[in-house]
Amino acid sequence: MDYLERLLEGNKRFIENKPLKRDFKEERERVVNGQKPYVTILSCSDSRVVPEYIFDAGIGEIFTVINAGNICDSSVLGSIEYGVEHLKTPLLILLGHSKCGAVTATCGCGGKKSGTNIDYIIEKITPAIAKGDIEEAICENLNCIEKEILEKSQIVKEFVNKGKLKIIKMKYFLEDGEVKILKG
Ligand SMILES: [Zn+2]
Repeated sequence: MDYLERLLEGNKRFIENKPLKRDFKEERERVVNGQKPYVTILSCSDSRVVPEYIFDAGIGEIFTVINAGNICDSSVLGSIEYGVEHLKTPLLILLGHSKCGAVTATCGCGGKKSGTNIDYIIEKITPAIAKGDIEEAICENLNCIEKEILEKSQIVKEFVNKGKLKIIKMKYFLEDGEVKILKG
């Protein structure tokens, strides 16, 4: 089974509320001397979006990069490059989700600044909200992030061109637990 299939199978178990029985002690001990995750995931900090649960994955399977709005900046790029170049994950998933608070806030603020560090996140998401529809903006945000990653990371670009890395954009639905692959 390829890794994408493995993740989608895990998501199916999650939706059906039939997760694998886990032995955390065994999983923890298996990775003490090194990790070999097969996927790097850039996800949102939203407490309702938990990659390991969503994909019914165990310890050591997912290299997670996380922030509010799953935005891309230097620290994210560095983390992704670590996952791709050093840990050699063949998959990079950009995971957005329905009802994302960061995107909703960006759509709702009308460009007004709050004077807090949240402004930075809002600014990063702003190019994605042109159409004004929140759910569309969540998907567009992923397109912008993919573009930014490919523009700013030589390593990611090289791995994609060599066929060593696949970037997949996905949206997680809080409502039913399903993860959908986004095209384009
Ligand atoms: Zn979010």
